[in-house]
Amino acid sequence: MEETQDHMEEIEGSEENVTFKSLGIVDVLCEACELLKWKTPTKIQRESIPIALQGKDVIGLAETGSGKTGSFALPILQSLLENPQRLYALILTPTRELAFQISEQFEALGSTIGIKCAVIVGGIDMMTQSLMLAKKPHVIIATPGRLVDHLENTKGFNLRSLKYLVMDEADRILNMDFEQEVDKLLKVIPRERKTYLYSATMTKKVAKLQRASLKDPVKVEVSSKYQTVDKLMQYYIFIPAKHKDVNLVYILNELAGNSFMVFCSTCANTQRVALMLRNLGMTAIPLHGQLSQAKRLGALNKFKSKTRSILIATDVASRGLDIPHVDVVINLDIPTHSKDYIHRVGRTARAGRSGKAITFVSQYDVELYQRIEHLIAKKLPLYPREDQEVMQLMERVTEAQRFARMELSETSNKKGKGKRSKRPDDEDDTEESTGVRKKFKKKKGK
Ligand code: AMP
Repeated sequence: MEETQDHMEEIEGSEENVTFKSLGIVDVLCEACELLKWKTPTKIQRESIPIALQGKDVIGLAETGSGKTGSFALPILQSLLENPQRLYALILTPTRELAFQISEQFEALGSTIGIKCAVIVGGIDMMTQSLMLAKKPHVIIATPGRLVDHLENTKGFNLRSLKYLVMDEADRILNMDFEQEVDKLLKVIPRERKTYLYSATMTKKVAKLQRASLKDPVKVEVSSKYQTVDKLMQYYIFIPAKHKDVNLVYILNELAGNSFMVFCSTCANTQRVALMLRNLGMTAIPLHGQLSQAKRLGALNKFKSKTRSILIATDVASRGLDIPHVDVVINLDIPTHSKDYIHRVGRTARAGRSGKAITFVSQYDVELYQRIEHLIAKKLPLYPREDQEVMQLMERVTEAQRFARMELSETSNKKGKGKRSKRPDDEDDTEESTGVRKKFKKKKGK
């Protein structure tokens, strides 16, 4: 780890005398950065903003967390200030969450100059979106599938005036089989435009897309591939699989007051763990790919606004999300792909803060764990804990597990009888005080 470059440097900027102004950003946007408390440009911003301001295409090899959104948003906003025009820029991104996050940054940076953005993603009513497009926003942030849908079906909507195209997380866009949609989009937007392509990795598909869509691009790379941060304290605990829950509860209690992200391997397990923790009076909320769009955003917002301190997530949530205040990442289920370990623990120790990551290793996970140690080139210490103290929690945890299972089967029974059309995971069932939970509370009260 020592020889690897410090990720924090990327976020905070190491060259203190470099400012947004010295990179060529105009005062009104520098002020917007100040309002966001962006004191110095990050590494990707330092490297790509001057190139973008010269009017060149950019390939940025950088991950979420590096400040890459600012590195394309600032030059686009600056150009827009010089040439005010509707339907000016299109940002393509692989997921709905990322689209909303990018939009938030555009709006925050562009608030004083009256920027209008529209987020066009699946899972939201087409009609509402058509109305948003009819108002001709300056910037569209979209997932490729839904945007193509509008180009084909929304009367009067086209992208013929577009001046900027950004393909954000291009590797993921292509891995998610959006290749055809991207091809279609490239055919209907003007060739005379600036293009920025951002990707965490340069895959064959990304290289092909680059050849098809960029003109004499300049490459900037800050990707800290497979490295973790110095301010991140990483630990593991070695326990039998059946003791995972009780150890989780022990750690959550011990580190109470922090914000946690707990990773599970399946949607069902996130749901079960969230219910169990709720039964123990903890503010846990599940986030996974089977939740409806509204629930996913709702869960994230509750977590971001700190009304919930424990986010239980699958890997769907582990990449790309900008969750600023995770103090502790817990890998309750070890990641099957060791690279996911890096993405998961990358949720903590961001923006100059320190963070902890604790990985649960059971008798079944030893090989996977060794692969992680190999990847990060580091042997991790054991997380210090008193086995006796942990076991004192066993009875309460077993009871909470039992009730969680009952709640889950109560939900699926109701679903089976057609009383409720919800899928067991298509909701934050943990929010509802179900009959079973009421009984549990009563029992605890006795
Ligand atoms: P991104 O990689 O674009 O998703 O950005 C990750 C986080 O870093 C976001 O919360 C940004 O608001 C924040 N950020 C971006 N640029 C800076 C900066 N220059 N200084 C401090 N924070 C920043």
